[in-house]
Amino acid sequence: MAIATLLPATTAFIQRAPRMLIGAEWVEAADGQTMPLRNPATGEQLCVVPRATVDDVDRAVLAARQAFDDSPWSRTRPRERQNLLWKLADLMQRDAELLAQLECLNNGKSAAVAQVMDVQLAIDFLRYMAGWATKIEGSSVEVSVPLMPDQQFHSFIRREAVGVVGAIVAWNFPLLLACWKLGPALATGCTVVLKPADETPLTALKLAELVQEAGYPDGVFNVVTGTGITAGAALTHNPRVDKLTFTGSTAVGKEIGKIAMDSMTRVTLELGGKSPTIVMADADLGSAAAGAASAIFFNQGQVCCAGSRLYVQRKHFDKVVADIAGIANAMKLGSGLDASVDMGPLISARQQERVWRYIEMGRESGATIACGGEQFGPGYFVKPTVIVNVDQQHSLVQEEIFGPVLVAIPFDDEADALRMANDSPYGLGASIWSNDLAAVHRMIPRIKSGSVWVNCHSALDPALPFGGYKMSGVGREMGYAAIEHYTELKSVLIKL
Ligand code: NAD
Repeated sequence: MAIATLLPATTAFIQRAPRMLIGAEWVEAADGQTMPLRNPATGEQLCVVPRATVDDVDRAVLAARQAFDDSPWSRTRPRERQNLLWKLADLMQRDAELLAQLECLNNGKSAAVAQVMDVQLAIDFLRYMAGWATKIEGSSVEVSVPLMPDQQFHSFIRREAVGVVGAIVAWNFPLLLACWKLGPALATGCTVVLKPADETPLTALKLAELVQEAGYPDGVFNVVTGTGITAGAALTHNPRVDKLTFTGSTAVGKEIGKIAMDSMTRVTLELGGKSPTIVMADADLGSAAAGAASAIFFNQGQVCCAGSRLYVQRKHFDKVVADIAGIANAMKLGSGLDASVDMGPLISARQQERVWRYIEMGRESGATIACGGEQFGPGYFVKPTVIVNVDQQHSLVQEEIFGPVLVAIPFDDEADALRMANDSPYGLGASIWSNDLAAVHRMIPRIKSGSVWVNCHSALDPALPFGGYKMSGVGREMGYAAIEHYTELKSVLIKL
């Protein structure tokens, strides 16, 4: 058993009771209230962080507003924005182990995996976005203006930073999700107020330290820790915010979307998913089973695009399910500080309880638990679970469980697979496992989801837009699409 030793810097960060960054100041909540964070592997209290009040959020937005409207930041050139983002990425690289340990203690995920996945993907993404800072272009257009036939014009279209960004994120990839928002915001010249998830603010606070160290002007990046109901809602309602960007549940996303429409605040929503993994009869069954297991069990199944519905062509159904159950049964559960562990705890007792309710619901409705179906503590553990003999319309198949629970259903032919894959309120991702090129190309355009992977699942790249069809959201993160969501177009017409 190789238990990672905590870096002195990790322990020191937690012991000093981290504070929020508003403008240039590291502050407590205005009323002194705090909220406890727990280590999901033990259930024990890790530390406390400020519980931001509405007033704290308003001050953070004001700091971001002033930094955007009237500070050196508003005049920074693309090259400086590129260099600052690159510097921030370098500092994250320097502190990668510390960031990974904080993520592990706060979220429960493996520190080793967090370092090579969460932290490295965040760094790579910021570097990718640094590249865009110098490549944001408008265009010039030759216009006719029929109502003024005797005049000449020069016309062009500017792409401008959208302004103050209110960013609210979920707890499953705390640092990465924050950087998906911070990257395009800083590349385009926006300013940001980030509200990390109630459960997982630690890496956001460390990130704020690194933003300061990189040399960003005060107020460009602010972090308020607190609850969704108070701090998140205050950010959503603040009239000084120009754009809201949210990653979280569809239920909260819908509320934020309505509020944003009311004030015409720009908004992008990255929401829930129930992504299908489709295994065709001709697939390499060994890699399909391994891929399907990783698609659902990675990060304890707490992945928005997790392959949580498995459809296998009927003649291979039993074998693929048995192979996945074998992989699940061999998985070692434990603390994310132990590098030999395959699966950590869920984020909270509440999430454990939610996932457990779905498993019980399956049992009660006569479904078969092919493996797992157990929970244990201390800590919030649920064994990797595969459920079969379940109807396509069952809540287990239609609703997002957000835990290590796979529902598996056989299908007869391509049309059957597509019908069931698309029979979902969500549309975030889907994978097809097949080597039949023609079948794969027939299926790709017919799948209603923002991403389709072939012979892999949840494979993300900074250059590829990521986001959802249907109830999985509005807008895209990553790629040039993200730059478009953090900018406004301004048409300029000059009469000569
Ligand atoms: P959640 O919606 O409960 O919370 C997300 C964030 O919203 C948190 O910071 C929370 O404090 C805040 N919040 C809660 N209520 C709010 C309110 N009334 N006003 C403003 N903010 C509020 O979601 P969660 O349980 O933290 O995260 C899990 C969900 O996130 C899953 O549905 C998952 O699929 C989704 N997710 C989506 C993506 C994606 O890119 N599409 C990525 C990761 C997670």
